[in-house]
Amino acid sequence: MLAHHLWFPIAVAALIAALSTGSLPGQEAFTHVVIDAGHGGKDPGSSAYGLVEKNLTLDLAERLQRVLTDKGFTTTLTRSEDVFISLEDRAKVANSSTEVIFISLHFNGHLDRSIAGTETLYWPGSENGRLLASYIQSELGRRLVTRNRGFKPKRLKVLEKTKCTAALIECGFITNRWESQRCGSEWFRQILAEEIAQGILRYRKI
Ligand SMILES: [Zn+2]
Repeated sequence: MLAHHLWFPIAVAALIAALSTGSLPGQEAFTHVVIDAGHGGKDPGSSAYGLVEKNLTLDLAERLQRVLTDKGFTTTLTRSEDVFISLEDRAKVANSSTEVIFISLHFNGHLDRSIAGTETLYWPGSENGRLLASYIQSELGRRLVTRNRGFKPKRLKVLEKTKCTAALIECGFITNRWESQRCGSEWFRQILAEEIAQGILRYRKI
């Protein structure tokens, strides 16, 4: 009788444990990750406190590439230097490949300098995009306390033009003084790269 009384809470506890440890099943098989360092060249993106978004995204893209390569993925960067590339051309890099997902990296800026935190965006109506974004966003801030702004649908051109599953990660507000100090630090960008890679791994169906 004891077992009958106990099975339900045990099952619920197991489910909660599965959710919290990230053992939900993967959603999609892929071997290739296109990593898009936001902005570049004549388009610097946001800038504040001596930081320029296009430089941070390129550094983070290279870190993410190293982590994913170590985990056995094929990776392609949409840019590996400080050059301008149109949103269409960024999407084309992924559109010419199969078994691929597209990860666009950004840092955020706002006139209200009190705003901070990370968020992950996906194309409205893309169920795979929503899942990928949710997996990545749930990893961000796992190792460091970070304001979680959630995962959200957004009509962004680079997401619209990308045919495969795609997510765009806003890795923190460089217009917030506290967060800018983190974003400007190599150790923080390394943690970001490892957390993003973890979200990608969780999304992959093996
Ligand atoms: Zn940006």
